Amino acid sequence: MYKYEKVIGLEVHVELSTKSKIFCGCSTEFGGRPNSKCCPICMGMPGTLPVLNRRVLEYAIATGLATGCTIREYSRFDRKNYFYPDLPKSYQTSQLYLPICYEGSLEIEVDGIKKKIGIHEIHMEEDAGKLIHDQDDEFSFIDYNRSGVPLIEIVTKPDMNSKEEVIAFLEKLQLILEYLGVSDCKMQEGSFRADINLSVRKKGQKELGTRTEMKNINSFKAIGRAIDYEAKRQIDLLEKGESIEQETRRWDDANGISLSLRSKINAKDYRYFPDPDLPPLVVDKDWVDEIRKRQPELREEKIQRYMKEFKLPEYDAKILTSSKYLADIFEKTVAISKNPKEVSNWIMIETMRLMRDRQVQVENITFSPENLARLIELVEAGKINRTIAKEIFELIFDEDIDPEVYVKEHQLGVVDDRDLLIKVVQEVIRDFPDSVTDYKSGKDKAFKHLMGQIMKRMKGKANPVLVNELLRSELEEL
Ligand code: ADP
Ligand code: MG
Ligand code: ZN
Repeated sequence: MYKYEKVIGLEVHVELSTKSKIFCGCSTEFGGRPNSKCCPICMGMPGTLPVLNRRVLEYAIATGLATGCTIREYSRFDRKNYFYPDLPKSYQTSQLYLPICYEGSLEIEVDGIKKKIGIHEIHMEEDAGKLIHDQDDEFSFIDYNRSGVPLIEIVTKPDMNSKEEVIAFLEKLQLILEYLGVSDCKMQEGSFRADINLSVRKKGQKELGTRTEMKNINSFKAIGRAIDYEAKRQIDLLEKGESIEQETRRWDDANGISLSLRSKINAKDYRYFPDPDLPPLVVDKDWVDEIRKRQPELREEKIQRYMKEFKLPEYDAKILTSSKYLADIFEKTVAISKNPKEVSNWIMIETMRLMRDRQVQVENITFSPENLARLIELVEAGKINRTIAKEIFELIFDEDIDPEVYVKEHQLGVVDDRDLLIKVVQEVIRDFPDSVTDYKSGKDKAFKHLMGQIMKRMKGKANPVLVNELLRSELEEL
């Protein structure tokens, strides 16, 4: 391996989360009865005419702006001609000659080393339908619900050299799309799919080697495995003096191998030509500026703001912003509770622990920020202790209960009874005269010891804020 280096470029297909399809009004919702979300336009009937969904263009521009691309003022759709049963028109409406965004980049970081990955272009296109082979021995079925779902394709330059860089790039891109709200990026539902173009070359060699392309790998883990396997396969061939075939390969994750699908088809084989049914797109500069102004705060900006505005450590800021959903919960809770570090702890520790335990994805979290804020307030005011608070939080996480009501109903509140607490404080002072002497001579540890004894006698259920106050004043009077 030491003699060779991997060279990797990505083509990432992202399904946009618009309500309707790219050229008709049909719903883009995932799943549902086959062929229940289609019409003559997305089924490619002759004589129909497409009309571009403005939101698709807006989302493509927003993605371009967030990835440092130039937005093309005058762009166009082209027909990519090929026959396949999931493509009833026999061409895919895409962009080849004048894609909407070009020449951008994203900076990634792997093992503390920063690197800029070039983005060649971002173009808009339509998704195809879906063939279903496993329902019958003799027949295949076709579902056109996905036909015409809007896609953007992000094409990188061959700037990555390891699986770690590839995954860092994809994670960063995914997060940008999530923050922009342009896609839900669910790999398992196919709304974020990456094709891996990979070649190898001897270290120090300038020219690129012959590449292969692996399509539609559906998890980051599988991507890592596919890259390792394919690089080794190519190196083994070169070491044997053989050459690499430029081809499209399928990654078989269950068996951990890649298989040849077909030899690579070049752009010229598709007989691309400008689509005569769609007028060229002229993008107004003012509109681009408007979209730029409306761009939401992205992760890097959030990290900086959390550190500055909420005085959070960088560590917290990075974890909280590792998902837009987590950042949303954090911001909404802080707005009520005004205690950023406490909120951050509850999210980073307990929330993330329960997500793991209960196998809940962050976008499916259901508890309301109000209830988490109330819980924090109860702890801060000394009304419940932390052990009980953690137990209650599980109920908030699972069922979004109101902690105040719950504490009252189950009498979980700590003892606030002054007279009772004074009695216990005085008992402990009497029973531990040495600690009292130590305290008087300025030893802070002794105070903690006395506090601990009182809490022990109260079985952890005394209001610590009140005990603290009573103990201090009792000791002062001695
Ligand atoms: P095509 O038009 O045949 O699809 P492109 O030039 O558009 O080819 O490149 C497609 C993808 O392949 C891009 O992500 C690019 O970075 C990557 N790529 C191109 N050449 C190589 C290579 N020699 N090794 C690895 N990746 C490559
Ligand atoms: Mg290509
Ligand atoms: Zn339709």
